[in-house]
Amino acid sequence: MRIKDRLTREIEARRDDLVALTQDLIRIPTRNPPGENYREICDYLDRRLLRAGFHTELIRATGAIGDSDRHPRWNIVARREGARPGACVHFNSHIDVVEVGHGWTTDPFGGEVRDGRIYGRGACDMKGGLAASIIAAEAFVASCPDFAGAIEISGTADEESGGFGGVAYLAEKGWFNPERVQHVIIPEPLNKDRICLGHRGVWWAEIETHGEIAHGSMPFLGDCAVRHMGAVIDAMEQNLFPALAQKRTDMPVVPEGARQSTLNINSIHGGEPEQAADYTGLPSPCVPDRCRMVIDRRFLIEEDIGAVESEIRDLLETLRKGRPGFDYEIRELHRVLPSMTEKDAPVVGAVARGVAQVFGREADYVVSPGTYDQKHIDRIGRLKNCIAYGPGILDLAHKPDEYVGIDDMVQSAQVMGLALHELLGG
Ligand SMILES: [Zn+2]
Repeated sequence: MRIKDRLTREIEARRDDLVALTQDLIRIPTRNPPGENYREICDYLDRRLLRAGFHTELIRATGAIGDSDRHPRWNIVARREGARPGACVHFNSHIDVVEVGHGWTTDPFGGEVRDGRIYGRGACDMKGGLAASIIAAEAFVASCPDFAGAIEISGTADEESGGFGGVAYLAEKGWFNPERVQHVIIPEPLNKDRICLGHRGVWWAEIETHGEIAHGSMPFLGDCAVRHMGAVIDAMEQNLFPALAQKRTDMPVVPEGARQSTLNINSIHGGEPEQAADYTGLPSPCVPDRCRMVIDRRFLIEEDIGAVESEIRDLLETLRKGRPGFDYEIRELHRVLPSMTEKDAPVVGAVARGVAQVFGREADYVVSPGTYDQKHIDRIGRLKNCIAYGPGILDLAHKPDEYVGIDDMVQSAQVMGLALHELLGG
């Protein structure tokens, strides 16, 4: 039997193991924030990967944002050396999941199997992908023991809150240097037949408008910061949103609606803080003297971050010149540059040929509307040969009754196994 057929059968034969592994991972609740049970899930992965012949290291991101003795940011990197020198293929999965939220009909940390699906928080984003990559690696090592190079599997903290206690920390410590890792696959839930080349850029900022407090019965004696913020929103509606809609990209972003520049108004707070739900009194009459807005601007590879920033600053400056009493401050909160791996990069080709073989059709190439840990691998690690590929439907991420399809996981693992064979098996 051809090695590739043997490999795909080997993975199919491990279906029950794949299901049990995914269930075990879901049953370790790694909610972030606050970032719980990272050590527990790393210990679990440690036992599993040691059994599979990997050398493992547990790394705490000491001093990183979010790391504390109460909620330490633990990460695991496991490496399996081949029989001969060669490249290293690294599978990186985040081990954290987002909060549960409302509307579940199954136990979010139960890992229930129903109708060919595994349910739970993190099932698709991305414990199913992590499990698929482990099964792919184990089956590949079993069917091709004389492989070249090395395979690495990492489980990293805090992707859902920026990745600073996870991939960013590891990248700063050199774990993703191109001298030691040559191919990176991040099994995020982008669908089993799609290769995600990268993501758009992010610019978050907080805008504050200033006013003057006064008695609410005599607003003319003060200056309302909320009305000034209203003028900011009006300027956005009149000029900025239409201009952003005109900025189209050649990046294959999905969904289609994100194939342009976007801006979200994340929050607005002005005037008295909201009272606790059990407060039964009335508000006091005051003119708000401060109003704050957080904006979330997503930009394209064709755009320059400096221009993205000045677009907002110019809008505010125009208001300062034209609107009596208007004054503001603006503060950057967060920035991520867009990232897009070339379509002819070796890891893209290897996964694309795996998709073609398993599904009998060409892979779709996509770009994510939001960012994920590729940003750190690209910017800090300086590694360009990186994609996201994994089972699960992106739209289910962070929703109630999140699930991953078992067939999808098996087929994705087969694609990963075939990619390993192409990159390390020759
Ligand atoms: Zn994710």
